[in-house]
Amino acid sequence: MPGVSQFSASEVVDQAARAQATGLQAILLFGIPKDKDEQASGAYAENGVVQNAVRSIKKKCPELVVMTDVCLCEYMSHGHCGVMRAEGDHFHILNDETVDLLVNTALSHAKAGADIVAPSDMMDGRVSAIRHALDAHGFTDTGIMSYATKFASVFYGPFRDAAENSPQFGDRRSYQMDCANAEEALREVALDINEGADIVLVKPALPYIDILWRVHERFGKPTAVYHVSGEYAMVKAAVEKGIVDERAAVLEIMTSLKRAGADMIVTYWARELTRWIKP
Ligand SMILES: [Zn+2]
Repeated sequence: MPGVSQFSASEVVDQAARAQATGLQAILLFGIPKDKDEQASGAYAENGVVQNAVRSIKKKCPELVVMTDVCLCEYMSHGHCGVMRAEGDHFHILNDETVDLLVNTALSHAKAGADIVAPSDMMDGRVSAIRHALDAHGFTDTGIMSYATKFASVFYGPFRDAAENSPQFGDRRSYQMDCANAEEALREVALDINEGADIVLVKPALPYIDILWRVHERFGKPTAVYHVSGEYAMVKAAVEKGIVDERAAVLEIMTSLKRAGADMIVTYWARELTRWIKP
């Protein structure tokens, strides 16, 4: 992905400090572990890559809101978001076993100092399981941003390369949503809110801007949208070919997301935007 890089544990602290200095209020961390296995043990290790990064960032920038991605795919040797069981040629994801590991992951992030945990896996029941575990351990103020509507999408491609989490076999359609099904998306949002989500997130952004608007209108909850890697890469490619002006294109896209009800936008242009929208 042009303009996007992985950072080492020390670089990420500098990047966070710089981001905060330019006016960014929040960052969302994704971890790339050294080793992967079939239990995703790096995801919930006390000294895992994200846990260490959160501790260092909060030490240097206590005011910066640190959000953490909670999923297992980056830590799984097979690259799926959950614990797998193969049966002949078929495989399936074990929902409840996966939720247990997600709870451990969220809890370890909260212990490290994360302000908001963001489960992105789409397993059933994980928001309430995480909420209960956080409360039981005294993390009542740790928020949950739920990827309430995560559609199976072609636009995730560049991220999977960047995060090194492409599934080694099969795809994610059994746990991500069908792009034709708006009603299912709204039901998932309602479920996550009932389970205790503080922020609901819609992903991808522009192809699902109708969903964003409906979620914002119907539920009145803080609503976030994730402008994903493929959407980013398309604009970057157009800029490179001289088809559109980057600043103007990005400002138009971001404005349209705000217009459609986004209270928060997850975007790879965050740093540039702090410059571009300064009065
Ligand atoms: Zn995942």
